[in-house]
Parts: sequence; C-alpha cells; structure tokens
Amino acid sequence: MQNLRLESNFVDSLPADPIKENYRREVTGACYSIALPKKTKNPTLLAYSPEVANLLDFQNEFCNSKSFLEIFSGNKISDGGQPYAMCYGGHQFGNWAGQLGDGRAINLGELKNSSGESWALQLKGSGETPYSRGADGLAVLRSSIREFLCSEAMFHLGVPTTRALSLVSTGEEVLRDMFYDGNARLEPGAVVCRVAPNFIRFGNFEIVAERGDKDLLKRLINYTIEHHFGSIWESFAKRTEHQADLYSAWFHDVCEKTAILVCDWMRYGFVHGVMNTDNMSISGLTIDFGPYGWLDGYDPMWTPNTTDAQGKRYCYGRQPDIALWNLVQLANALYTVFPNEEALQSGLELYRNTYSKKWYAELGKKIGLTKVEKDDKTLFEGMLSVLQATETDWTLFFRLLAKIKLSEKTPAFSEACKTLEPAFYGSVKGNENYKSLLEDWLQRYHERISREMTNQREREQLMNSVNPKFILRNYVTQIAIDEASEGNYSTLNELLDILKTPFSENIDPDQKFTLQRPEWAKNKPGCSMLSCSS
Ligand code: AMP
Ligand code: MG
Repeated sequence: MQNLRLESNFVDSLPADPIKENYRREVTGACYSIALPKKTKNPTLLAYSPEVANLLDFQNEFCNSKSFLEIFSGNKISDGGQPYAMCYGGHQFGNWAGQLGDGRAINLGELKNSSGESWALQLKGSGETPYSRGADGLAVLRSSIREFLCSEAMFHLGVPTTRALSLVSTGEEVLRDMFYDGNARLEPGAVVCRVAPNFIRFGNFEIVAERGDKDLLKRLINYTIEHHFGSIWESFAKRTEHQADLYSAWFHDVCEKTAILVCDWMRYGFVHGVMNTDNMSISGLTIDFGPYGWLDGYDPMWTPNTTDAQGKRYCYGRQPDIALWNLVQLANALYTVFPNEEALQSGLELYRNTYSKKWYAELGKKIGLTKVEKDDKTLFEGMLSVLQATETDWTLFFRLLAKIKLSEKTPAFSEACKTLEPAFYGSVKGNENYKSLLEDWLQRYHERISREMTNQREREQLMNSVNPKFILRNYVTQIAIDEASEGNYSTLNELLDILKTPFSENIDPDQKFTLQRPEWAKNKPGCSMLSCSS
C-alpha cells in the first residue's frame, strides 16, 4: 500500500477561520475554514485517469486499492493533510453576490511529486462546509461524470484545465430538482477528485478586497505569486524596491493566461456556461465544469445553460468580452494595493491584444495558413458568415475543409458541398444564396492558399493537427451518463480512452462519437439543455 503524504502550504501560509464547527457563516479575516469530508456509506471507484495518477506518482495497484478508495471518497484523511474549504466571493451574472466559497468542495492538501511539482487535491461533492449556504455540499453522478470526462478531454486538447483523478460513486442518494421546475428526484451521489496547481479564483481576491482588508489582500497576492507564478516571484520579489514591478508583472501574466484560455475555448467551440468571477482561475485554467457545452452547429449566441437562456450573457460568442469584464472586476479588487492604476490598465490592454492576435493566428491555422496576413481578417469573417448561412458543425467543417483539394483550380460548388455535407445540419440543395456565398468564399480561400508554400498533403496535416476529430459532444456524454445510471460504464470508459487522441484520424472506426449531433439530441435535456443544478 502506498503511503500518501500531503503538504499544507495554503493552510500553513494563510490565516484560518478560527471557528472549527461546521455551520454556515460569513468568514472574515481568513482565506479558508477547516472542513472535513463527509463519510460515505458505500463508495465504489467508477473510473480514474491513469495520466493524472501518473502525474501524482501513483501506481495502478494503489489506484485499485481500498486505501485509494477510502482517501478519494473522503472516508480517510491522508498523513499531513488538513482538509479545508476556501473563502471566496464573486460576481454572478454581472452582479456582486457576496461571499460564496467552497460550498461543495473540500481541499485535501498538496502533493509534491518526484519532479518537484506541487499538485493540490480537491474532493468535489463531499459534503457541507461553512460556505454551503442553502445547499447540501453534494454532487450527483451525472454532473460528476461531466466534470470527470471534460477535465480530461480539455487536457488532451491542450487547453489549460484542472484535471480529474477519480470518479467515485458514494452509494448514497441526493435530492435534485434538475430544471428548477418542482420535479425534484433522488439521484446517485458521486465525488470527483480534482487536481490542479491551485484552485484560487478571481473571487478569492474579490472577497478580501470587498471587506477592505488590505493586509490580507497583500498576503494572498504574495502567496499566489510565490507559489504559482514562480518565475515572476524569482525576478522581482527579493528586491523590495521592485514591489510595483512584481504586482504589475503578475497581473499582466494573469491577463495573458486568461486570453490564451478563452481563445482555446473559442477555437474548439467550448462554452463554459457560467463565467462568473468565482469560476475564473487565477492561473488561467478551465475550472468548474457545470452547464458547459460544445458547439455542434456554429452559432455565436448558443448557450448550453438554461439559466442563461434569456440573457445569453455566457453564450459562445460573448466569452472573450466576459473574460475581460471579469478581469476588470479583478482589477477593481486589486487596485487599492497596487502602486499605480497604469499596471492594471495595461494588463487589460494586454488581454485584448493577446486575444485578438492569437484568435486570428488560430483561425489561420484552422484553415491551413502558416501565417496570418493583414487581409486575412476578411477571409475569416467571410468564413464565419458561410458557417452561419446554413447550420454547420464547427468541428466537422474544418476536418472536411482540409479534404477539399485546392492545388489546381477552385473547387466547384457541387464538389465542395459533397465533401462538406456531413457538417451540414440541413440540406443546402437549391439554396442559391448559400451557393453564391460558399462559392465566393472558396474562390478567395483558394487564392489565399495558393500563396502558401504547402502542398495538399501538408495543408491537410497542418489542419488536422489543430482541428480535432473528436470533441466531447454533449449528447455523447449524456449517453455515458444514461448508461452509468443503469450500472453500465462501458461508454464512460470508451470515452475516457478516445478523448486521449482527439486529433487522430484513426480513432472511432465505427463512427460512434465523431459524427454530427443526431436530430434526437437537439433539444434533449442533458444534451443541449443544462442547468446549474448539480
Ligand atoms: P457554481 O455554480 O458551481 O459555480 O457554484 C456557485 C456557488 O454555489 C459556489 O460557492 C458553490 O460552492 C456553491 N454550490 C453549488 N452547488 C452547491 C451544493 N450542492 N452545495 C453547496 N454549495 C453549492
Ligand atoms: Mg463555481
């Protein structure tokens, strides 16, 4: 049996809530409260990620042991671990919501691996904490499967993200009203162990700033930079006259990382669904997989979150602006301890520039351009209009576009349509308007590609290396969830395997998971409609 020894850097470095009892309260002057995971009656390990286990130096034997199950169901506390729940606040749907905090997440501590990396381990769904407000601190199996699979799918696409080590069913039932419509029912409970360098959110800084606690704000900022922005800390921190540069460099890095993150979401068609400031990681990771979704047909206004169906604040196309809005809230929280406002303004500017430069570069790569020229912006805009003119699958379109031969003449409309057909959700036959749009765009695309030095094979290779064949479509995850609720975990395991190589042409030979969304899934709950209830 492997002996798991955890460190408690966050707990040892930052002030604790002095109250030890577990009841709901406002917590001031502290960054966290001690909270123990709830014991589970009958835990079962449903799945684990071998890659995350490897990151933590866990052997397969340990992952399949009773000890692993005890620790990651919350039944046993590891040596050195001092479980706690973090205090954070946040802006939810544009309004300040006050104290939120880890209401259903309990941090076990940090594990240092053999490469010297420190990984924070957190159980999600393991019971009440002082931050649980009106809720029970638990998570249901459907949401836990969604978080478990999507964390790993994100990672294998190369998108910064929290990871998921394990998925454990608790053997207990949890009452949930999935659509807040008065139809509550009992669902199986589950616990996911999330793994990340840290789980610090914009909201951790916001709550301290809102309470006017400048000393604590500085301590939290310094802790964050020292432990999670190591190279910035090394460059400036030891030279006290460079305090201004330290804070400025850090905020700039946060802005840059956020820009890269959101751009990655956009290029793969990921919609987070609840981009509240409490769901924004200070390290630029995808965090809190709730009512997220992946675009099937390209539609900038699409949101998977039913709670946001009216306002569409967090729809696909608004994500870059919302991330900036969130950074502005972070800047507002930080400015009282920042030596000058300029550092904050220029950080926000850096976000805008980093985002737009990367977005155009990524769009370029998606259509096979090795570098972006000034006029390419109109080519990209034209392409997005074509994609909207008839409902077209965001993922399939680029894989199919790569197949259209562009080496000699402009491809004919009928030929191109035939190639692109698996990406269309409706028929484009007889659609004259669409025909002229696509023809016009293909001609411009052909002219542009002919200035590239790549041949057909190289262009296809480049495009296939950035355009995934597999994304974790909403309906596919729902199939895994429906089966799991009957005790069948085969699709869950199949997905866990296929998501490791999303760009490979050879995956999914039976085309079970890589075709367009079927008609039955269009409006099915769980497939396109999700709520925050989990
Ligand atoms: P989320 O929608 O996941 O970003 O959660 C927003 C806030 O509600 C966070 O403070 C969560 O910890 C809290 N929360 C969400 N679900 C639960 C739950 N089942 N029990 C306790 N707190 C919860
Ligand atoms: Mg959250």
